[in-house]
Amino acid sequence: MLEISGLSAAYGQLTAIRDISLTVESGGILAVIGANGAGKSTLLKTIAGQLKATTGSIRFDGADVTALSTHERARRGIVLVPEGRRLFGSLTVHENLQIALSAKRSGVWSLESVYELFPLVAERRRRRAGDLSGGEQQATAIARALIANPAVLLLDEVSLGLAPAIVGQLYDRLPLILEQGTAILLVEQDVAQARRVSDEVHCLLQGRTSLAGKDLDLADISRAYFGAE
Ligand code: ATP
Repeated sequence: MLEISGLSAAYGQLTAIRDISLTVESGGILAVIGANGAGKSTLLKTIAGQLKATTGSIRFDGADVTALSTHERARRGIVLVPEGRRLFGSLTVHENLQIALSAKRSGVWSLESVYELFPLVAERRRRRAGDLSGGEQQATAIARALIANPAVLLLDEVSLGLAPAIVGQLYDRLPLILEQGTAILLVEQDVAQARRVSDEVHCLLQGRTSLAGKDLDLADISRAYFGAE
């Protein structure tokens, strides 16, 4: 459904990802792992259209979307939850979710159903988003993205700054999202969580694919992640 082929992207002279190819099926979940600076966020930004691809293509639902704007990609169902969550801190949780209604595509996700998925977000609906804990903010950011009814959800480092138990609770909700037919492409430094929740793992090292596949061996992942021989 999402088919990336030979994708590269750069910041000026610095090529941050090189020749990346991967496929995410409808209802499937793929995790991209790699150390700091490996190019994980760059890959998601390029798929979402925030950064222009220098080579390669992004196909989505059979159409080439490589040259489309971020807005047009979102309209087709490619939705990014950026690193750092980017909520409106002075607005309430409910107001943050309401804003997302303007980008709503048809589907099962609504204010009611995302509150059901994340009961803690529902409890906090009248609170200012900026006053929530990191885990609550991350749940709110995912809920906000879901309201658009994405076909593919791009999740940038859900675990960032959160205690492992909280990360585990957030990742435990992902199967319920996949059940609705939404695909997930997530990037993660937490290898254990990434392996636990995903069908397939794709490891980046200095912008290139160093390993990719299903049921990968931990020793192989470790070599691909750190680049050690
Ligand atoms: P992290 O886990 O730290 O977010 P990452 O794997 O997501 O790492 P990227 O953020 O994609 O890595 O960065 C890949 C490379 O691109 C790094 O060398 C980084 O310094 C560089 N880079 C990232 N963002 C920019 C930018 N806005 N301008 C210039 N260089 C950038």
